[in-house]
Amino acid sequence: MTNTALLETVSLKKIYKVGKVEVEALRGVDLRVHSGEFVAIMGPSGSGKSTLMHLLGAMTRATSGKVLIEGVDTASMNDAERTAVRRKKLGFVFQKFNLLPALTARQNIEVARKIHGEPRTHESDSYLAEIIGLLQIEGKLDRRPSELSGGEQQRVAIARALTNRPAILLADEPTGALDSKNSEVVLKMFQELNKRLKQTILLVTHNPELEAYTNRLIEMRDGLVVSPKDS
Ligand code: ADP
Repeated sequence: MTNTALLETVSLKKIYKVGKVEVEALRGVDLRVHSGEFVAIMGPSGSGKSTLMHLLGAMTRATSGKVLIEGVDTASMNDAERTAVRRKKLGFVFQKFNLLPALTARQNIEVARKIHGEPRTHESDSYLAEIIGLLQIEGKLDRRPSELSGGEQQRVAIARALTNRPAILLADEPTGALDSKNSEVVLKMFQELNKRLKQTILLVTHNPELEAYTNRLIEMRDGLVVSPKDS
């Protein structure tokens, strides 16, 4: 593990303006995630987890402070620059799987690879095959989302999120729509991706069982990190 964080926030603040009212969603968050870590962010509803995730995912701009991805500040970038960072560096998994319903699992994954501009090389094919094997969805690739269980759909969504070989995989409540059995399967697979491929993963969750699977837990309260922010 090097000293340079893969992902770092410095005094990160986000204020939402609702009419004349200002809501301080993040009040100065400092955190660092190193390459190869599997980190969970937990905290009660309203503590700022989603806001933090949106900023880490380069989806919105900060009011002040920095979000450094591989040392580059995305918080102040314009929309086009942030889109480029999202495409190249980040992978996203959501609570709702968001698969395209008319396409098979394989096509969902292929469309993502195309969008990311990943060439269909032998190397890229074997990387994808490894992921598909790890997620145990080889036998499901010709099915449409409606013909898959929630857990299977989420596993396809994880494969899709990894097609650009992201530096960081960001997951927002990835087990929120799953029953406990499927949640466990999906969490184990995140763990395997982390262990075997050294995939850096940052996950937001309400699921207290998740702690057992991750390397580190970050707790949030009222727009601040309240537990150890570094490893
Ligand atoms: P969590 O994900 O932990 O539930 P959020 O980041 O969604 O927390 O919310 C943090 C605070 O910011 C809450 O007080 C919430 O009401 C407020 N908030 C979140 N999004 C918006 C928004 N788009 N406009 C105004 N206030 C918001």
